[in-house]
Amino acid sequence: VGNEEEEYVPEKIDYVFKVVVIGDSAVGKSQILSRFAKNEFCLDSKSTIGVEFQTRTVTIKTKVIKAQIWDTAGQERYRAVTSAYYRGALGSMLVYDISKRQSFDSLARWVEELRANADNSIVIMLVGNKADLVDQRAVPTEDAVKFAKEQGLFFAETSALSGDNVDKAFFQLLEEIYGVMC
Ligand code: GDP
Ligand code: MG
Repeated sequence: VGNEEEEYVPEKIDYVFKVVVIGDSAVGKSQILSRFAKNEFCLDSKSTIGVEFQTRTVTIKTKVIKAQIWDTAGQERYRAVTSAYYRGALGSMLVYDISKRQSFDSLARWVEELRANADNSIVIMLVGNKADLVDQRAVPTEDAVKFAKEQGLFFAETSALSGDNVDKAFFQLLEEIYGVMC
């Protein structure tokens, strides 16, 4: 009867928060999103299938919040993320891969893109993903902490593969958005 995996949806949603996930191709944006929205990691996901966003409804400080989390659907590969993608976003997950220095070096460009296209009050969570790849680490945590401080971003290291810290990073972002808004 019905879809057993479907999450219980409360009757009354107090707020919808749009969150955009950005960062270089292959850093794990789509996997982070499916880990948070469905608690899934897809081992052989070749590319993002045309899903625009996924949702998860959570409770923050007694309010029911529907997080509507947008995926770039591969547009980042062609630097073709449009301004419409950022419109109305209250938060952003800015993702790099701790095992790929290049993905960290791209962050300044992504922050610029956010500042140019998103609302000034957008809350940004810098996410160093693939923290499970300990032997391949190319970005020291301290470098990211420093960058986050300079740019005024929150920061977390995650593994979409193991699930480590993914919920925590999203909840912190959503709580910060709630704090800004309410
Ligand atoms: P996107 O292009 O940023 O959306 O990246 P994907 O979510 O498609 O992931 C790119 C590749 O990295 C895929 O092969 C994933 O299986 C892999 N990947 C994603 N997250 C992790 C992670 O936390 N750890 C490891 N080891 N691999 C990951
Ligand atoms: Mg993707």
